[in-house]
Amino acid sequence: MREDIFRLIPAPLLSWYRKNKRDLPWRSDPTPYHIWVSEIMLQQTRVEAVKEYYTRFIAALPTVEDLAACEEEKLLKLWEGLGYYSRVRNLQKAAKTIVFEYGGQFPDDIKSLKTLSGIGDYTAGAIASIAFGKRAAAVDGNVLRVASRLTENATVISDTAYRKALENALTAVYPEEGTACSEFTQSLFELGALVCKPQSPACKACPLNGICRARKHGSQERFPVLPEKKAKRVEDVFVFFIQTPEGFCIRRRETGVLKGMNEFPSAVVNGESAEEVLNGWGVYAFTEKKRKNFTHIFTHIKWNITCVWVETDVAPFDTYSLDEIEESISIPTAFKQCLQIFNQ
Ligand code: SF4
Repeated sequence: MREDIFRLIPAPLLSWYRKNKRDLPWRSDPTPYHIWVSEIMLQQTRVEAVKEYYTRFIAALPTVEDLAACEEEKLLKLWEGLGYYSRVRNLQKAAKTIVFEYGGQFPDDIKSLKTLSGIGDYTAGAIASIAFGKRAAAVDGNVLRVASRLTENATVISDTAYRKALENALTAVYPEEGTACSEFTQSLFELGALVCKPQSPACKACPLNGICRARKHGSQERFPVLPEKKAKRVEDVFVFFIQTPEGFCIRRRETGVLKGMNEFPSAVVNGESAEEVLNGWGVYAFTEKKRKNFTHIFTHIKWNITCVWVETDVAPFDTYSLDEIEESISIPTAFKQCLQIFNQ
């Protein structure tokens, strides 16, 4: 770690941040609850997309008590489209702990924060520094990129020991406790998001260009060093719109990816036909109306989806109207995109 370089970061970066920070909804009232919800959402989605989800979520569940008491289907509906549903389940689990074990007050120290479901080093650092003004770094992809370039560190950024060492080295240069700590964490995120971007960093406009080794040597594109990408498993999947006189079939997934979520009945297949799958569910008499192909990429799996719309008289699973599905049933994007079949 290049502590000599890190010591030079706070002054110019804070000054730049105060002039250039974006106006984001969670920044206007940075309570621990607001920072926590926004950080969990930001782990998987771009800032621009999160703004809308965040505003809707906080309007529906304004306090940690509301989150703890929220009915599951409503909670999943609020999260619909963000993916990684285990994160919102953990959010609620942690909210219950905060309400029942901490009397509704967030703990303000890293150690206690990390005992809460879904809160690891990064989120604990973000809450402790941004909401409580503590000296605690939060190392995300943006921070790793900026630090790797500043110091020309060639360690693969997925290396946990490197991440921990970077967290410690940055924490050591944090300003005094208070607003400046909150700003310093956000300034590192902001620099990575607005200036030190993955492609074509805007070094001329960077407040750290005088101390940056990658800038000095023209090696920006060589850092950070990313882990090798693993090939994704490819699966062929049928997703069925089973239309009956009572409505469309929906069921809960019991295994595999998206376990516990609602789906239009689906099956991973290995050469079986749509008819064979439907027969396996007791659907023998049906009319196929349309079919359409989609792909969906998960972290480790790629689905080649064939969506098939069939009409039948007997429903093998629970049924809902399209209005009910739209308004109150949470459907993950992998399945929801199949709704386009109606507009073919
Ligand atoms: S000078 Fe360029 S490479 Fe270095 S931190 Fe700034 S934007 Fe990133």
